[in-house]
Amino acid sequence: MVSNMILEKTSVPARGLFLSIAASFMSGQLAWAAPEGMLKTAPANPQKATAAAGEKAKAQSEPEKTLSEAEKKSALAALKSLHLRTPIEGFDLQRIKGAFYEKRGEEIHHAADLLAERNTPVFAVADGKIAKLFLSKAGGITIYQFDPSERFVFYYAHLEKYAEGLAEGKSIKRGELIGYVGTSGNAPKNTPHLHFSVGVMDQSKKWWQAIEVDPFEVLTDK
Ligand SMILES: [Zn+2]
Repeated sequence: MVSNMILEKTSVPARGLFLSIAASFMSGQLAWAAPEGMLKTAPANPQKATAAAGEKAKAQSEPEKTLSEAEKKSALAALKSLHLRTPIEGFDLQRIKGAFYEKRGEEIHHAADLLAERNTPVFAVADGKIAKLFLSKAGGITIYQFDPSERFVFYYAHLEKYAEGLAEGKSIKRGELIGYVGTSGNAPKNTPHLHFSVGVMDQSKKWWQAIEVDPFEVLTDK
């Protein structure tokens, strides 16, 4: 989430900086071709996008929270017990190894980018409910999903569209179709991918302030 925000902020006014970001991507899983104008696409709903930017900016101004070793260990154990499935059928999870720690501009990615063809189905990684359907300038068409305990939040971004009938508050099952891979938000238009993250929330359940853990450590390929 944070990385998307950085791309959004830096790439429009500072093309040179954007190119350096693009170069840093080249060394990782996702090679950016940086087509002209790819970041100029207007959000479908500018009002919502503005609200999103505000909320994220507020979150950024607070000191970054981290998990203690004990909290992280506990979270990873609980997440593993959920047997999170890959959100894209048949995706080779080795391809996202290390992606969590890649740099996106000044920030660490803290997510995985699953490259797939446009309109590839995206499946819920666990049972739970749709906490928020959110349209943001950076993430585009996004889904925030809670697990049944509402301790964790799964974030799916750059979608082409939602699955039919998806709505906030809806209970969903692991493996249920929730959306389709796309390039909404600031994803390169010729590189459709799912930006996916796993966040640990505190009691407040503020899904936009969750602390991410590496999806590679908790996703399973079944
Ligand atoms: Zn990403």
